[in-house]
Amino acid sequence: MGCRGVGGMVLSLALGIGLARTAQQAMGQTAPTGSNADVRLLAAANEDAYRLPPEELKKAHALGRIRDVLGIVAPLWDLVVAWLLLATRLAARADRWVKGVHRKQWVQGLLFFALFVTVASAADLPLEWFAHHVSLQFGISVQSWASWTADWLKALGLSVGIGAPVLLLFHGVVRRWPRRYWLGAWVVAVPLMALGVFVGPLLEPIFNHFEPLQKADPALVAELERVVDRTGAEIPPERMFLMKASAKTNGLNAWVSGWGATKRLVVWDTTVDRVPNDEVLFIFAHETGHYVLHHLPKMMAVSAMLMLFGFWACARVAEWMLRRFGGRWGVGGLESRAGFGVLLLAVSLGGIVAEPLANGLSRYVEHQADVYGQEALHGIVADPQETAVAAFNRLGEAWLEEPHPNPVIVFLLYNHPSTQSRAQFAKEYDPWAHGGHGEFFRK
Ligand SMILES: [Zn+2]
Repeated sequence: MGCRGVGGMVLSLALGIGLARTAQQAMGQTAPTGSNADVRLLAAANEDAYRLPPEELKKAHALGRIRDVLGIVAPLWDLVVAWLLLATRLAARADRWVKGVHRKQWVQGLLFFALFVTVASAADLPLEWFAHHVSLQFGISVQSWASWTADWLKALGLSVGIGAPVLLLFHGVVRRWPRRYWLGAWVVAVPLMALGVFVGPLLEPIFNHFEPLQKADPALVAELERVVDRTGAEIPPERMFLMKASAKTNGLNAWVSGWGATKRLVVWDTTVDRVPNDEVLFIFAHETGHYVLHHLPKMMAVSAMLMLFGFWACARVAEWMLRRFGGRWGVGGLESRAGFGVLLLAVSLGGIVAEPLANGLSRYVEHQADVYGQEALHGIVADPQETAVAAFNRLGEAWLEEPHPNPVIVFLLYNHPSTQSRAQFAKEYDPWAHGGHGEFFRK
C-alpha cells in the first residue's frame, strides 16, 4: 500500500523505512494467502517441505513471473521518472513557477516538493493499478476499485503531508551546509528514521480498522500470553490488535510493529479465522524473536551506517551529474530546488544499488527469527517442526508464493528467505533431539 514513487523511495530511504520495515514485517511479504488445511500431508519425507496443489502451483508460477518483473521494473521506472523530470526541464520550470506564486521561500519550497511528490506518485499509478488488477485476478485481493482508489488518495495525502516538509528540511540542510550537506542530511535522517518506526503504527488506522484482540478472540490471547511468558517479550494483551483485513484481502498476516509506547502486535482477522491457533503462535513467536533479538535497533544501526556512506556516495554522483548534465537540464547548483532534484535522482540510484544488500541482511534476521520462533514453541505446542511447516505452507498458499524461485531473483528482491527454504529448515530443525538444546532457549 502507499505511494512508492521517487518521492516515496527517497522518503523511505531517508526515513530508513525500507530496512527498518523488513525487521518489523516478520512473515509479511513471503507469507500470506492459503486455506488448504491438508497441505502438510502432501509434504512427505523426501519431498519439498513447501508444496502447492497443482492448480495453485500453476497460479503461483504465473503470479511469480509477474511479481519478478514488477519488482525489477518498478524501481527502474522511478529512476526514469526522476531523470525525465530533470531532462525535460520540468523541475527547473516548476522552480521558476513557485517563485512567482509566493514571496516566502519556505512556502515556495513546500509547494515545489508537494508538486514533486504528487507527480512521482502519479507516475507510479499505472504500476500500482496493474498490481491491484493482478491481485484481484488471482483471488488474493478482494478490494473494490472504489476502496482501492480511496486508499491510494489517502496514501497520496500522507506522502505529500509528510514528504513535502521532510524534503524541505533536507533541502534546507543542503543550502545551509553546501560542502558537508551529505553529513548534515545524515544527522537529520537518522532520528527521522527512528521517528518513522515509532509513528508508523499510529498511521495504520487511516487505512484499516483495528480492534482489541482480547475482544475478538480471548482464547487466542490467552495462548499468546504463554509465548509472551516463555520469551519475556513485553507485549501485554492491551497491545494486541485485530485488523479487519478481510474486507480487502484473502491474504494472511500478523506482525509486531512500533517501539516503546507504540509497540504492538497486529493479527489480521483472516489469520484468526483461517489459521489454527498453534500456527498463529508460531507466527507470533517469530515476530517476538525480532523484538527479543533487537532486530529493529540493529537494523536501524546498520541502516544508519549504510546511509552515511550512501549519502556521501550519492553526493559525489549528484555532483558529477550536475557537471555533466546541469547545463542541459537548466539546473544551476545543488542548492537550487531543481538541483536538489539531482540529489534525489542520485539517492534513488543509491537505493537500487543498496537494495540487494539490505535484502540480504533482512533475510539473515528473518532466518534468525524463524529459529527463535520454532524454539519458543518447544513445550508449548506438541510438534514445533510440524507446526512451523504447516504455517509456511498455509501462508505460502494464501499468497501464492512461488515454491522454486530463481536464486538471482531471491538475491535481488526477497527480503525474506523463500518459503521453500524456510519450510525446509523448519522441517529439519529439532535442536532438542539427542539431548541438545536450542540456540536461544536452553529448555
Ligand atoms: Zn520476520
